[in-house]
Amino acid sequence: NNNNKSLLLTGTAGFIGSNFVPYFLEKYPEYNLVNLDLLTYAGNLENLKECEQNPRYKFIKGDICNRELVEFIFNEYDIRGVIHFAAESHVDNSIKNPGVFVQTNVNGTYTLVDVAKNYWMEKPFTYKEAYQNCRFHHISTDEVYGTLTLDPNDLFTETTPYMPNSPYSASKASSDMIIRAYYETYGLNTVITNCSNNYGPKQHDEKLIPTIIRNALKGNPIPIYGDGKNIRDWLYVLDHCKGIDIVYHTGKTGDTYNIGGRNERTNLQIVDRICTILDQQVPKSNFSYKSLITFVEDRAGHDRRYAIDATKLKNELEWKANETFDTGIVKTIEWYLNKYGISK
Ligand code: NAD
Repeated sequence: NNNNKSLLLTGTAGFIGSNFVPYFLEKYPEYNLVNLDLLTYAGNLENLKECEQNPRYKFIKGDICNRELVEFIFNEYDIRGVIHFAAESHVDNSIKNPGVFVQTNVNGTYTLVDVAKNYWMEKPFTYKEAYQNCRFHHISTDEVYGTLTLDPNDLFTETTPYMPNSPYSASKASSDMIIRAYYETYGLNTVITNCSNNYGPKQHDEKLIPTIIRNALKGNPIPIYGDGKNIRDWLYVLDHCKGIDIVYHTGKTGDTYNIGGRNERTNLQIVDRICTILDQQVPKSNFSYKSLITFVEDRAGHDRRYAIDATKLKNELEWKANETFDTGIVKTIEWYLNKYGISK
């Protein structure tokens, strides 16, 4: 449809992007979505299968660091907005191989935002139109803030100083700073969202919750780092998608919004809850899934606690999560049982 606005979405063959695209395509018939993804080990086109037949969906395999390709896409599709998910996202990989995190997360973000600035501000629009109509939304993480004490009143807000501890979070923090500079320096219409840990359908096997479910179902040891008492604040992926939608459409230019559902859990509580549900849904006669829990050597520089204060998003833009951890984890387990062809 020629009257449609085209948006560029990056990294959509990954976990969050592939949950976002079907949701967004259905909700906004006035957008065409151009999806750019390198299909690294973390990207899987199977995740986007349900969109393939949609005429408003276009997939391009390529690297966000490839400036010529990004410029071509802006010109070819007359891109009027960007939602930027693409990143190297796994902390453990960043400890082993930090270089690719700097390349994709820092240089890739720079390439995208610089091409967007040039296209929107110099041709064919005026500065004012670009400022009003073309938005660059950068997806980031709460890990940029570092770690918290165990005091429950200690929470990450939008003004918490950046103190990233892993090469992953340092690369994401750097990319946030570049976006900030493009707003402050060039007046580009930017927004940033910093979200807590996501869970739900389509997450890569390497991450905590899929690892727990997969190993439990196979009867293999379930590895838990250190003493299992590290705390994360978990958000169901579709609640994150809803938050991105709201900020993309109504967030204040140049602002940052934290997204989180106040579902703090230790890793042990997570594994315990999943095992309890599996014991009910796919019981084994000779063991309880909890007996598979195995403690392994802690991750280097492992942040102790993350917890998000999402008051700004709730009060200013009226976002709220639909799922609690207890409802979201049941849906998630259901999806994995389906994936593995296991019936309850
Ligand atoms: P993911 O690892 O599942 O997916 C990342 C996608 O980016 C993959 O499809 C991969 O192929 C693609 N990609 C990687 N390098 C690329 C490159 N150079 N060019 C083009 N595409 C490339 O990640 P995710 O969990 O879906 O996270 C998406 C975004 O959300 C990331 O920016 C991440 O930092 C952020 N985030 C994730 C979480 C979480 O809990 N998963 C929480 C907060 C923020």
